[in-house]
Amino acid sequence: MTNARTYALAMDAADPLRPFRNEFLIPKHRDREQTYFVGNSLGLQPRGARAHVLEVLDKWAGEAVEGHFSGDTAWMTYHALVREPLARLVGALPQEVVAMNTLTVNLHLMLASFYRPAAGRSAILIEAGAFPSDRHAVESQIRLHGFDPSVDLVEVQPDEANGTISMAAIGQAIADHGPRLALVLWPGIQYRTGQAFDLSAIARLAQAQGAVAGFDLAHAVGNLPLALHDSGADFAVWCHYKYVNAGPGAVAGCFVHERHGQAGLPRMAGWWGHDPATRFRMAPEFVPAAGAEGWQLSNPPVLALAPLRAALEQFDRAGGMPALRAKSEKLTGFLEALIRERLSGTLEIITPAEPARRGAQLSLRVAGGCDESSRGRGRELFEYLRETGILGDWREPDVIRISPAPLYNRFGDVLRFVEEVEHWRGV
Ligand SMILES: *Cc1c(COP(=O)(O)O)cnc(C)c1O
Repeated sequence: MTNARTYALAMDAADPLRPFRNEFLIPKHRDREQTYFVGNSLGLQPRGARAHVLEVLDKWAGEAVEGHFSGDTAWMTYHALVREPLARLVGALPQEVVAMNTLTVNLHLMLASFYRPAAGRSAILIEAGAFPSDRHAVESQIRLHGFDPSVDLVEVQPDEANGTISMAAIGQAIADHGPRLALVLWPGIQYRTGQAFDLSAIARLAQAQGAVAGFDLAHAVGNLPLALHDSGADFAVWCHYKYVNAGPGAVAGCFVHERHGQAGLPRMAGWWGHDPATRFRMAPEFVPAAGAEGWQLSNPPVLALAPLRAALEQFDRAGGMPALRAKSEKLTGFLEALIRERLSGTLEIITPAEPARRGAQLSLRVAGGCDESSRGRGRELFEYLRETGILGDWREPDVIRISPAPLYNRFGDVLRFVEEVEHWRGV
């Protein structure tokens, strides 16, 4: 790709999503816009978020308690304003999704309902190197039920050169432990390697062994097209502050498959999960609302939900995940091609090369193995980039993650990253 600059300019000029960049507030580095590749950690602020938050503050100021009941954005049903767009985003039926709590809280709530260990079937299978919060949640739930994580927490080790995990290895682990597996918890995208997984296949394998299939989609939602309902997953959880751009600590998401929505599963109950038709009779018996909403505990944090409305509106206006994914594959493909062509002795790509096995993110390591000196070089490069206004993120011990987000990143941003790495290397 010798004409990388011409290509980048042409791609940006022809990009149907180009106007969306102007809908985001982009932090400044010195006097120019930062080149921001950290949408996998905290997405940029959509300009529309502020108006939605102010609307809640104004309603509170002007109406106080009446704000629960008045107008199109009554707080009583505020969470329902995001129900349909959220269902579209994750490929679910509206009654299968709810925005509530935060990710790890939702994971615990789902484990409370779906991890029903019995003698002989008490194990949970996860990937080795899972995000610590997921591992803590799973391990503590195993202990809560009186089982021993050293026996009942099964971690599938990476079997591929870059620390990624083949479908064959996942299948083998599920088969090996099948009769003792109560639950399989798998990520849509592994946060460190950027590897994406075939969720339908994993759900099928788990369920064929009699285990529950749950997914953590923190890095997949807003990044990959998802078909949660069709995947057959029993449950899924995710957050909205990464690729969904709903702000720090945004209210998270939760999916419960339709087949469980009415089944009277045991749960950690609260009044907001009570059937709304009779909730305010304030009766002592708990009657769950149908679907995922039956897992709500408290009346929702409306101020924290407000930015999510703005963010989801953008996904709809952009044409949903198919449109975003079409650009994302090209954008990340451009990054990969430039690294291979111009930085092959400098950076190694850990993330799988097949587009179907990754999302927006490429996880990079400074070439030369995992010894102390290349690790130090990796950190040095990361700091150098930050000084020039290019923000990726650093994951111990030696990974730089770069995630071009199709709603606001440009092909020109990707080129700038590659040129700055060349400059650092001293070409
Ligand atoms: C980002 C992330 C989390 C963060 O959990 P919170 O409860 O939102 O703080 C947990 N798990 C995974 C896999 C993540 O990527």
